[in-house]
Amino acid sequence: MNSASGLEMSTIDIRNEQMFPKLAPNEIDRLRRFGKVRHYAPGEPLFVTGNVAPGMYVLIKGSVRVTRRDPLGHSAPIVEQGPGDFVAEVGQLSGQPAFVDVHAIDDVEALLIPPENLRALMIEEPELGERIMHALILRRVALIEAGTGGPVLIGAENSPDVIRLQGFLARNAYPHQLLDPAQDQDAAKLVEQYAPNPSDLPLAVCPKGTILKNPNETELARALGMVPIDERDRTYDVAVVGAGPAGLSTAVYAASEGLSVIVFDARAFGGQAGASARIENYLGFPAGISGQALTGRAYVQAQKFGARVMIPSEVVRLDPTETPLGLHLTDGRRVKAATVVVATGARYRRLGVPNLSDFEGRGVWYWASPIEARLCRDEEIVLVGAGNSAGQAGVFLRSFAKKIWMLVRGPSLAESMSQYLIDRIKAIDNIEVLTHTEIVALYGSREKQLERVRWRNNVTGEETEKPIRHVFCFIGAEPATGWLRDSGIALDGKNFVLTGSDVPSDARPSNNGSGRPLPLETSVRGVFASGDVRSGSVKRVGAAIGEGAVVGAELHVARADGAAESSGDAQKDSGTGSVGAMGMRLNPHCTPERAHQEATAAPSGGVVPAYSAAGPDRGR
Ligand SMILES: Cc1cc2nc3c(=O)[nH]c(=O)nc-3n(C[C@H](O)[C@H](O)[C@H](O)COP(=O)(O)OP(=O)(O)OC[C@H]3O[C@@H](n4cnc5c(N)ncnc54)[C@H](O)[C@@H]3O)c2cc1C
Repeated sequence: MNSASGLEMSTIDIRNEQMFPKLAPNEIDRLRRFGKVRHYAPGEPLFVTGNVAPGMYVLIKGSVRVTRRDPLGHSAPIVEQGPGDFVAEVGQLSGQPAFVDVHAIDDVEALLIPPENLRALMIEEPELGERIMHALILRRVALIEAGTGGPVLIGAENSPDVIRLQGFLARNAYPHQLLDPAQDQDAAKLVEQYAPNPSDLPLAVCPKGTILKNPNETELARALGMVPIDERDRTYDVAVVGAGPAGLSTAVYAASEGLSVIVFDARAFGGQAGASARIENYLGFPAGISGQALTGRAYVQAQKFGARVMIPSEVVRLDPTETPLGLHLTDGRRVKAATVVVATGARYRRLGVPNLSDFEGRGVWYWASPIEARLCRDEEIVLVGAGNSAGQAGVFLRSFAKKIWMLVRGPSLAESMSQYLIDRIKAIDNIEVLTHTEIVALYGSREKQLERVRWRNNVTGEETEKPIRHVFCFIGAEPATGWLRDSGIALDGKNFVLTGSDVPSDARPSNNGSGRPLPLETSVRGVFASGDVRSGSVKRVGAAIGEGAVVGAELHVARADGAAESSGDAQKDSGTGSVGAMGMRLNPHCTPERAHQEATAAPSGGVVPAYSAAGPDRGR
């Protein structure tokens, strides 16, 4: 029997069976071909918190103790595991650092399955793979709930930088703890020693002992080993820029077809969808699903098929003249790929108030997660916007805020919000919708936070000022295409990427047999676009995911028509360990002819002008 302590009992009680399933001897035998048998003496470590874990262990003989240990030196046992148990959590699919210590209690014989073979196991042994995957995901959830194995942030709960770092870790499903030095002695001592100036806070104490003073997200990610080490000379079949629904969908479809895929995201997986408290119109989830839960599954799924996901990694430039195509990252690295998929979606639009930036992260929010919501408990707040994203935020925040003033620039919500959300907002008694209304001024101190908000009714001219410390803005989004500036990729008048038949004939044409770009191909050969970033796309999760699948099919056509070859000899160039450079190990059932038919029959961006005309927030 497994015993467990140190984690939330409720979680353990309900999920213990699924979290710690035992494998029968014949099942272990089926797994032997994926690993190598290793022996450990009593006391020897199998996992060390903060060190890259070697893979998943299946215990054959003997038992191990799993212990949580935080960087401040506190430790507590989590569970003891014995023959038939497996030791891992979901990070071992992609070679992430361990969140726990694991030591042999007695002489241990274990099958060590390295990350690449663990992914192969998931695919080649689907029934066992499903059980194991389910357990690995539940273990990560339990680690997040208990804050086990990640960094300890030291700072005040309502400090803007604490909220920034907590948001980053939470959105990446990374376990962490927060200690307030005003309430915790250990934290207070560390502050005394390492943070003499208030600007040094928050401290981030990492599992391997590194202490960072008010780090940015990239510094923190690096210290935690979140971004996997890349193989410098490798050329990928597909580089996907953006890990929102469109990018993750492309990654799943392309990687599952055997292409080698690398995915970059500047901040976190999930994109805008990650901000959605409840997506109710995505097919198959009648009770709704949070954007984080939906895209979290996709993130794991993409890795299961072997996609390499680099987060946080921002792409700053695409050079189409390089062969193969070259992507340049903020940290100076350059990644080569035979094809590129632009899935950078859209970025939130900002209010036109002069001193707005003084209050961003200090009372002006573009995200309504539990982290921001807890700050406005029992307060009056302002919510700006009239699209579905604003509606969802209102429904979520109403349980925290005393009153929500919902400011709508137009005459009604009906212009841009789905009826089910309008009905829900109407039924909530602590939301008051003010139409024809805009914020005209924000007041507060730059160092501290927002204190008062003034708004105006544009019809009557009447102005109102209220003591309000939190403003949530959901006023649509603009395409994230600045990084394509010098790439030669044709954009529309609002800077969305043109694809397929929308690409003007004078722009550099693709030559894929038809003489025109494929439906989701841009004006640059071998470069595709999908999701919200694409001109004419329907700005919805379902559409973004569907486009990811369409791009997956079009990549086959690009290959068949020689785009890959023109972008360099990917096979020759692919270096060590390439899963499937273009043309290798593709789905044998998906012939170029079939892929071409499927791809060209897929709806092009140009067929839905009714949605695109209203901008990104329309109809969410
Ligand atoms: C609050 C909210 C609620 C919503 N609710 C719903 C809903 O209920 N139903 C629905 O259908 N739709 C909803 N939407 C819309 C839906 O989320 C979007 O249509 C969808 O997320 C678009 O997916 P995408 O992958 O195209 O782009 P995005 O989701 O915008 O993802 C793009 C990703 O690219 C990354 N990126 C950008 N630039 C770079 C770069 N240079 N380098 C690396 N990475 C980069 C970003 O960090 C981001 O993660 C909602 C949107 C919001 C904001």
